[in-house]
Amino acid sequence: MYPESYGHNPHFPKASDFRVIKNDATLGFGVITYRAFKPGELIAALAGEVITQVTQHSLQIETGLHLLDLYFCGYFLHSCDPNVHLDLNNRTVHAIRCIRPGDYLLMDYAQTEEVLFKQFRCQCDSSNCRGWITGYKERPDEQSIDYQKYLMGCDIVE
Ligand SMILES: [Zn+2]
Repeated sequence: MYPESYGHNPHFPKASDFRVIKNDATLGFGVITYRAFKPGELIAALAGEVITQVTQHSLQIETGLHLLDLYFCGYFLHSCDPNVHLDLNNRTVHAIRCIRPGDYLLMDYAQTEEVLFKQFRCQCDSSNCRGWITGYKERPDEQSIDYQKYLMGCDIVE
């Protein structure tokens, strides 16, 4: 799935094992696996451009450094109950739950990101859904006020 310029690694994701979805109207982007993975199993080695700013599809390696992978992990969807864990220092992604063929690979954006490119309302439907997703070092922004009003029923016109 990666261009030749990223080099060769037998663990790089293969187009026969994964599909990047770019046209799902409700979820937007996402990555589906055609393979099953057991908890703890290596899913793939990762690659990308190392950049210094946060973008919509970058993932944070460490403070001030981000991996921009526009072929694979940059399109993972968020879930508050993720099925994968990313190690961006070692450029790997592992399964943390059983993953079946046809499942989306789901990460928790707060696992890697101090500050998100954009905070958002989560509708992942997991029992531990946080509702409003931020980076792990930031507070909910002003956009979250609309969400809080929604939770309190304040946006219902009577
Ligand atoms: Zn959620």
